[in-house]
Amino acid sequence: MAPVQLLNWRHASHFGPPAPCVLCGTTTPLRSHAKEPVHKVCAELWNSRHPGETRFVSDPPKGGQTSDHA
Ligand SMILES: [Zn+2]
Repeated sequence: MAPVQLLNWRHASHFGPPAPCVLCGTTTPLRSHAKEPVHKVCAELWNSRHPGETRFVSDPPKGGQTSDHA
């Protein structure tokens, strides 16, 4: 079992209207980078069960000049 790695989803883009989590079905205001409604803990658990997958990723660390792209 891979350890659960905590995600950094502090950015406002990770929040939206309440919607059913794609993993557990319970309502959540959180969004993944792909705009999937999902609890952070559900995404973290999913990641630990799917090592190597990049469905749910942390926000990049502060300081970079990354621009949003569509
Ligand atoms: Zn959930």
